[in-house]
Amino acid sequence: MKLSRKNLLQTQSYIDGQWWGAEHNRKFSVFNPFDGSLITKVADLGEKETESAIEAATRAFPAWSRKTAGERSDILRRWYELIMENVDDLALILTTEQGKPLEEAKGEIRYGASFIEWFAEEGKRAYGDVIPGHGTDKRITVIKQPIGVVAAITPWNFPNAMITRKVAPALAVGCTVVIKPAQDTPLSALALAVLAEEAGIPPGVLNILTTNQAKEVGATLTKSKEVRKLSFTGSTAVGKELMRQCSGTVKKLSLELGGNAPFIVFDDADIEGAVAGAMASKYRNGGQTCVCANRFFVQAGVYDRFVEALTAEVKKLKPGDGRQKNIDIGPLINVSGLEKVERIVGDAVSKGAVATTGGNRSEAGDLFYQPTVLTGVDNTMAVSEEEIFGPVAPIFRFETEEEVIAMANDTPFGLAAYFYGRDYALIWRVAEALEYGMVGINTGMISTAVAPFGGVKESGFGREGSKYGLEEYLVTKYMCWGGV
Ligand code: ADP
Repeated sequence: MKLSRKNLLQTQSYIDGQWWGAEHNRKFSVFNPFDGSLITKVADLGEKETESAIEAATRAFPAWSRKTAGERSDILRRWYELIMENVDDLALILTTEQGKPLEEAKGEIRYGASFIEWFAEEGKRAYGDVIPGHGTDKRITVIKQPIGVVAAITPWNFPNAMITRKVAPALAVGCTVVIKPAQDTPLSALALAVLAEEAGIPPGVLNILTTNQAKEVGATLTKSKEVRKLSFTGSTAVGKELMRQCSGTVKKLSLELGGNAPFIVFDDADIEGAVAGAMASKYRNGGQTCVCANRFFVQAGVYDRFVEALTAEVKKLKPGDGRQKNIDIGPLINVSGLEKVERIVGDAVSKGAVATTGGNRSEAGDLFYQPTVLTGVDNTMAVSEEEIFGPVAPIFRFETEEEVIAMANDTPFGLAAYFYGRDYALIWRVAEALEYGMVGINTGMISTAVAPFGGVKESGFGREGSKYGLEEYLVTKYMCWGGV
């Protein structure tokens, strides 16, 4: 890897301001999903080192939480600047371990950094309240305090931004954190630690545990009495398990789990805009985001036009090595991701769906699936229920508003939803009726540090970004003053 700053590529874990190897020098391999080549081996930490990280975060908490918000803000601001100065290197590390095209990776680094910049400021606004007392001699004040040591478990699809979204608000209000990044993408996390240290984040405030033993490390983090909060982004199955595990110590939780996003196009929609939104929402990151459109519902009057226009755009996508120029779409992250996409498309086609483009593995590499559009899909197919997490757009046909709302809500998930239409009354009705935490109206891109990201139903709870994101790391204390 040709980095301008070689020390951004680290292979040891970062605990208490030190680079840590595992016992018996245990390591696991990190591969480039583009061609399966070995990038490097990374320390494979276990239970014992997890405990050391929790202890370090616990020791660091009093001093970090007692700093003023302004002092913490200065350090976070510096971290933000260092990330922005090193966008190219960080993006190259990200693309090499994750596969997304370099320009997209740069976008993620900037997006990830924007949370640090935003929360560096918002941390100053962890306001409390003064409430008129309930007796003449009584006064009531409310303060917000940092919850304590936070554990963060993050996925591979956004190896940088899923970390900063959690860490920035936590650090801004005075919490300390132990992060367990996904085993597929530990290098982006370690690079962030290098810059955090350079920015002046004190030892123990931010710890990164690389491991291939997610279950053991997860169990150690969730059973710890010192860890007061778990923030998790990942699959619904693992989220449910972690929620169970956290019940033992009644930890505060933020869970950002799977989605099954509907993308609705009404007859009066701007079709060109809808196709552009569909491309952004569906094919970004190779379809591997939890807010990717998973089910397209197109009204009968524009169905054929939409399918034709979308198919034409999808045919233009160029898959390949994300490190090369003019590549639009990278590989899937691993074999199980690829096999899942293949199974879902196979099921749909066997039940009568037709691929207007794609429908097979791609020749671009072993982990590539062709960008695909499926028509003639219905709710007997797995594609209507499962999160595809790949570059496949299944297109359902609908007739009425009532029918499409019922179909869109017919899922246990409730993360993101999108729709395109022009009638303002319809827009209000549909936006209110969709049982989702986020609704994109005439846009396919909704993620930003300034808005609350999160779901309802089995997509989880808790919000990341915006003033709501700050609350996740605070506890409320009420003081009742008597004898005044
Ligand atoms: P994905 O399907 O996106 O890989 P996962 O939920 O498996 O979703 O992974 C998200 C994160 O959760 C990763 O960091 C992974 O290592 C971690 N993880 C997976 N299983 C467990 C577990 N049993 N306990 C704790 N963390 C886990």
